[in-house]
Amino acid sequence: MRVLSVASEVFPLIKTGGLADVVGALPGALAPLGVEMRVLVPGYPAVLEKLKRRASATPLGPLFGGEARLLAGKAAGLDLFALDAPHLFARPGNPYVDQHGHDWPDNAERFAALSLVAARIGTGLVGGYRPDVVHGHDWQAGLMPAYLHYGGGARPHTVMTVHNLAFQGRFPAELLATLMLPAAAMAIDGVEYYGGIGFLKAGLRLADRITTVSPTYAEEIATVEGGMGLGGLLRGRADVLSGILNGIDETVWDPASDPSLAANRAGRGLAWRRQNKAALRARFGLDARSKRMLFGVISRLSEQKGLDLLLAALPRFLALDADLVLVGAGDAAQEDAYRAAAERTPGRVGVFIGYDEKLAHLVQGGVDALIVPSRFEPCGLTQLCALRYGAVPVVARVGGLADTVIDANEMAVAARVATGIQFSPVTEAALAHTLARAVTLWRQPRIWRRMQRNGMATDVSWRRPAERYVELYEELVAAQRDPPSIHGPVSAAG
Ligand code: ADP
Repeated sequence: MRVLSVASEVFPLIKTGGLADVVGALPGALAPLGVEMRVLVPGYPAVLEKLKRRASATPLGPLFGGEARLLAGKAAGLDLFALDAPHLFARPGNPYVDQHGHDWPDNAERFAALSLVAARIGTGLVGGYRPDVVHGHDWQAGLMPAYLHYGGGARPHTVMTVHNLAFQGRFPAELLATLMLPAAAMAIDGVEYYGGIGFLKAGLRLADRITTVSPTYAEEIATVEGGMGLGGLLRGRADVLSGILNGIDETVWDPASDPSLAANRAGRGLAWRRQNKAALRARFGLDARSKRMLFGVISRLSEQKGLDLLLAALPRFLALDADLVLVGAGDAAQEDAYRAAAERTPGRVGVFIGYDEKLAHLVQGGVDALIVPSRFEPCGLTQLCALRYGAVPVVARVGGLADTVIDANEMAVAARVATGIQFSPVTEAALAHTLARAVTLWRQPRIWRRMQRNGMATDVSWRRPAERYVELYEELVAAQRDPPSIHGPVSAAG
């Protein structure tokens, strides 16, 4: 089975969030199951630099205003295709925005190019390589199913995975011809979206299968409240929509060998965590003699992540016997507010504004509990890492957070199966109440240690998710033997 994965980020070459982690981990998880997955990414400087052992370069001719070629090779253990188009991708830094944080004005062309080349690889551009399935991730790959659909002729099967429905790739209708889409595509069954062009919408409308990264998020996005404008479309495609949880890379996130920790896990004991907690307190300048509980946050600072609620709850938090460390970046107002909180309460609140992978590992190894108060969360990776490191996740009961944490309710505690704490609704009051509840539980070491051990024993690897993806691909390929109208028009639906 050959699958071409198409995405705008891949760990460890280029990453702004969990999408990169997933795209980087899937090939390794699928290989033992007989799936040969190659990844197509834009040729950003960070990617081309790593793509040292180039096997080949295929000229693509002019592509949206400049010459392009397709490089194939290996980097970081991945089989990669990189779309080398300097006029589109030879820009340092963040893949989507300029140094002032503004979207690149040609993002439509940049990611249409990625999708178009994916479609061309899918129909035989590269000699000797023909994927059975082309699997696109998020809006940046959303036009791939459209190019295959309107291109006509034999095509591979297509899957679209939604990692975050909030990012949709909406562009003006006038770009239709520029993007080399036929006039017929400007329709409700095509790429049209509220009068413009919707990249993610196109992918969700025209892909053979849709997945998202947790079963609960799959339900949420098919509702009016959670659908962000696409709920109706997704309800109409409920028969091809499913949720497959993400896993985490167990070699990158391994407390027994993690070089970013002050002490590594050894055997069943939990003493190593005390050393990491002390190191973390020192790193953030927190009161060294404190015996207080330590909460942590590792997150983008955005509306989605709900960390404004934690800011609002800080006065009530500080009345508890607990301290806080936060590693985060994003919304400037939230960054400032957290910095100010750390200055106001030295010794109790430590803040690092920025992106620091190593520090994120130390936080997981050292905090007693990790707070994830997201308003919505497709899957969430930090709570999975927390489980593996014995940091108890305190999470909003939404999306993948609801699916991966077993709440310490009375029965779960009695049955000794709890792995964390959930709260709902996602409000400041519920969060503050839950943090107090966490402190109460932490003061009962037998219950708390049981939760830590349960979490550490939870399978957060890619094993099960990889099996689910293989099932999906196999179903699609089996359907090919009886292809009714996969090249025909897509019927209107809900
Ligand atoms: P999202 O992709 O929505 O940002 P996820 O929980 O799915 O959220 O994935 C976030 C990933 O990025 C995790 O691997 C997390 O450890 C990492 N991360 C987020 N913010 C930071 C930060 N400021 N520094 C280091 N790592 C971070």
